Amino acid sequence: MSETQETGSERRRMPVVFAGHGSPMNAIEDNAWSRGFASLSDTVPQPNAILSISAHWFVNGTFVTANTAPRTIHDFSGFPQALFEVDYPAPGKVDLAKRVRNLIGEERTTLNPEWGLDHGTWSVLRWMYPDADVPVIQLSIDRRMDVRGHFELARSLADLRDEGVLIFTSGNIVHNLRDAFARMRANNSDTPQWAQRFDETVKAMLTQRDTDALLSALTDTDDGRQAHPTPDHWLPLIYAYGASDDRDQARFPNEGFDWGSISMRNVVLE
Ligand code: ZN
Repeated sequence: MSETQETGSERRRMPVVFAGHGSPMNAIEDNAWSRGFASLSDTVPQPNAILSISAHWFVNGTFVTANTAPRTIHDFSGFPQALFEVDYPAPGKVDLAKRVRNLIGEERTTLNPEWGLDHGTWSVLRWMYPDADVPVIQLSIDRRMDVRGHFELARSLADLRDEGVLIFTSGNIVHNLRDAFARMRANNSDTPQWAQRFDETVKAMLTQRDTDALLSALTDTDDGRQAHPTPDHWLPLIYAYGASDDRDQARFPNEGFDWGSISMRNVVLE
């Protein structure tokens, strides 16, 4: 299909993308994961803006970046200097930030002119949109809310898909750093069964659109608890799912594990 022939009124509803971002090094390394990130944009119509929801803005409150030049935030330590020198100079979009605040509810959302883009956002977007020419705003994840609350909040954002906005979320479907670091120290890159099983189970839940199972996956199953000692890298998937509906099907353009147990599965819902 030719995207260039689409006009505003005929614009196709934008897909929703969930990226499994993994190590910050994927931002600068040419590897299977970064090549996978680059290919994600091939199947997505050119967005006029991106709303990013990343595991790494997990705070007490719902905030939206509202500035014209969001800074590149290097929110990690112990990595090579080259990673701290990465700049992703995508412009912001204050009117979109206000639109998002309006959709979520003015009283429960705060515009934040100070914050920028964290590495969950730019480590993937710099491959998807290397020219940084698509405006990006970021929405925080309120750590005080339960999973159902996040799902409902995400549903309120779905209209943006008809407005040319790419809802992009970034986490990992299996993310237990203690396990991953232990494997790294032991030089053991084997993927444990619980990780493999949870990754496949979630894939099936997304394919079948089993909302109840997805919303209780972390609390009601041993694999879920092991896959996510904390929910920060899981909730971005709930945002992606919440912004989709029964008209959408799940595609999984890239999958696999890094550091043994970190699921690098990407999901496109359209
Ligand atoms: Zn992360």
